[in-house]
Amino acid sequence: MAYQALYRVWRSQRFDDVVGQKAITQTLKNAIVQQKTSHAYLFTGPRGTGKTSAAKIFAKAINCKHSVDGEPCNECETCIAITEGRLNDVIEIDAASNNGVEEIRDIRDKAKYAPTQAEYKVYIIDEVHMLSTGAFNALLKTLEEPPQNVIFILATTEPHKIPLTIISRTQRFDFKRIGTQDIVDHMAYILKQINVDFEEQALYVIGRAAEGGMRDALSILDQTISFSDEKVTLADAMQVTGSLTYEMMDQYISSCATGDVEAALETLESILSSGKEARRFLEDLLLYCRDLLMFQQAPKLLAEKVGHLTDRFKELAGQTAAEKIYQMIQILSETQNDIRFTNNANIYLEVATVKLAKSVNPVAISSETAPQAATEDIAALQQQIEHLQKELIDLKKNGVAAKESEPAKPTRTVSNKSTLRIPTEMVYKVLNEATKDHLLNVKNVWDDLLQMMSVTQRAMLKASEPVAAGPKGLVIAFEYEIVCGRAMEDEELQLAVHNNLSRLVNYAPDMVCITKESWPKLRQSFIHQNKDTSSEQSTNEQPAADENHLLADEQPPQEVNNQVVDEAIAIFGSELVEVIND
Ligand SMILES: [Zn+2]
Repeated sequence: MAYQALYRVWRSQRFDDVVGQKAITQTLKNAIVQQKTSHAYLFTGPRGTGKTSAAKIFAKAINCKHSVDGEPCNECETCIAITEGRLNDVIEIDAASNNGVEEIRDIRDKAKYAPTQAEYKVYIIDEVHMLSTGAFNALLKTLEEPPQNVIFILATTEPHKIPLTIISRTQRFDFKRIGTQDIVDHMAYILKQINVDFEEQALYVIGRAAEGGMRDALSILDQTISFSDEKVTLADAMQVTGSLTYEMMDQYISSCATGDVEAALETLESILSSGKEARRFLEDLLLYCRDLLMFQQAPKLLAEKVGHLTDRFKELAGQTAAEKIYQMIQILSETQNDIRFTNNANIYLEVATVKLAKSVNPVAISSETAPQAATEDIAALQQQIEHLQKELIDLKKNGVAAKESEPAKPTRTVSNKSTLRIPTEMVYKVLNEATKDHLLNVKNVWDDLLQMMSVTQRAMLKASEPVAAGPKGLVIAFEYEIVCGRAMEDEELQLAVHNNLSRLVNYAPDMVCITKESWPKLRQSFIHQNKDTSSEQSTNEQPAADENHLLADEQPPQEVNNQVVDEAIAIFGSELVEVIND
């Protein structure tokens, strides 16, 4: 028999088997028992937390004639057919591969017909955020007039990409990351069932690496089993999950503890660019600091529990004052709070890094550990931190709050509080000569350019993007006004961009800094000014970005009609630059 992946073989078939989502499964069972099911559900949560499993169990439970307490029997013909994916009335769609409007239109047409074999027709649409705007509209029409005996279960890892009009028509369940202990227990259970011996510490290493997703945990476990002889050992698990992560954490915290800002930022950069998610990294850092404290108090206990303490970690625990660790934990938890609602977690993490390294108590460091050459840099960086801290406060007051309200009111006027003077004339000068090719040239080398900059310069440019470019000038839009203001004054940064670009694209545009917020207005007024010369607006354009696409979609239709021209400019604006030059 061909080998089957553990996560397939051990996929939960009953609500009670779904690990770590008790509240959700209980609610669903009750709804089935009391016959109070909704016609549309939205299951959100990180990957591998049981969303699609729960959806399939739900489809079975609601159709099973022998269901007990809301659980499917898993033995009758209906249950078996659903498990094997061959019941016509339970339709699974992966929006990541079927994102066409046609697919959903098809649903609209077919949903009208009563189920043929089962009592309820159940559509399970996975990764529903991948649907195109048109498909969402088609889906919305179906949800507005739900056919009898049809249930939609929409699953997604990214609920913020789903139009509010859809969300408001569903009953929403947020699946949580599964706790490491729950994952470990489940893996231990499976290994016992399949008679594979294991070291418990190995399971903790895998559980942590899986970051709250059971499917990932079982995939790693699969790899580890195929890697080991007979027994799953700690060494095998470390090998498979990559001890690199631990080394990087050691390196990062030790740079912070010794006040080496530059090194800490560099390590952070490589951790983030290796694909680590900022939120998750913060959690790991908090765990790491907690472990440091625990190791200081009860080294043996921690060694037993964690099982992979590096020498560097032990050194750090010995050298770092408990007070300093408490301080770090405080900074980290504050940052965790700050990034809950932002799209730009990385910038907060960079600021936190500087804070962590700055909070160092100079008396506690020996002269050996603080690199002499870096002292001056540190002083300069410390000044920047104060700057950044101030910025962060402003950001909390203005930036974040403003961003949050955007999806609901895309036409919101630009904040009056803005004190930054936008260099309109300079922007116009660039726009006069701008072409799409120039912009594409710059965009193509943008990542390379970032790599050529210093760490702090890179951090500044990270939350920015080139929006228009010509042979002599380049307009860069910054996410945050504060950073934009700093970039305007930073001659070194401007020179670095100028020089490095000249090497990358063979001409040397000067950069003009603006805020992202000001860009649509600037562009619009420039276009109005040049109205007579361009007659064929908003034809042949492609959508600028998916998010804009969705934003536009969330507006009530009548408003869209009234503002069709403005909208077109706001969405397709960057393309208009090309039209003008044609
Ligand atoms: Zn059944």
